[in-house]
Amino acid sequence: MNHPPTADSARITEIFSSLQGEGIRLGERHIFVRFEECHIHCAYCDELHKIGREMTRTEAFDEILRLEKAEGPHTYVSFTGGEPLMYLSFIKPLARELRKAGLKIYLETNGILVPALAEMIEECDLIAMDMKPPSVTGERNFDAEHRQFLEIARQKETFVKIILSKEVQEAEFIAELSIVRDVAPEVPVVLVPLSADVEGHEDPELMQRLQALQRLGSKYVRSVRIVPRFHKILKIK
Ligand code: SF4
Repeated sequence: MNHPPTADSARITEIFSSLQGEGIRLGERHIFVRFEECHIHCAYCDELHKIGREMTRTEAFDEILRLEKAEGPHTYVSFTGGEPLMYLSFIKPLARELRKAGLKIYLETNGILVPALAEMIEECDLIAMDMKPPSVTGERNFDAEHRQFLEIARQKETFVKIILSKEVQEAEFIAELSIVRDVAPEVPVVLVPLSADVEGHEDPELMQRLQALQRLGSKYVRSVRIVPRFHKILKIK
C-alpha cells in the first residue's frame, strides 16, 4: 500500500453528498467517503487514477457532520473507494463515532478482504459486496474469498453486486450464484450492466444477455435484479 492509514489519518479522495447510484438503496441520499487505493485492478475501474489527500479522523468526522446538517438527512454514510477495508485502522473508529452520532454505515467493498471484514462487521449497518467475474475484471478468481466474506457479511444486511459485461462466462456466473445459494440464499443479488462504449443499459445486446442471466440466476437464489448505474444515467457524482 502506498499510503498506509493510521487510526488518526488516511488518504481520502473525496467526501460528498449525493444519491446512491447502485444496488438496493438506489436513489437514497448518502454521504460518500471515498478512499484512495485498492489492492486489485479491475479492467473497468474508473476510480484508481483519483488522487486523495491526507485527512485526519477529526477532519473527516467534522466534514461528514457538516454535510449531514447542510444537505441531509442522509440514510447512510457510505465508505467506498478504492477499497475501504484496506483502511480498517481508520474506518473502524470513525464508524464507531459516526454511529454514536446517529448515522448509519454502508460499506461498499470488493468482497475479498475477509480478516478486515471480521474486524469491521460490528460497526457496519449494510454491506454492499462485489463478486468479481474474472472474465470481466481481468483479475484472478476470488470465489474462495467471496464465500468466506459472505459468511461473515450476512450477519448484517447485505447484498451482492455483480458487474457483468458481454465477456462474462456463464460458468463463472453460476459459480458466484452458487456461493450465494450455499451461504446466504436470502441475500439479494444485483446485476450491473457494463459496456465499453456506452452506459451498460444502452447496449441492447448486453441487456438481452443480462435478462437471460437474471432468469438463470433466479433458479439459484431468491432475488436477482438488474440495476443500471443510476448516477451515470442522471450524470451526477
Ligand atoms: S475492486 Fe473496485 S476500486 Fe478496486 S479496482 Fe475493482 S472496481 Fe476499482
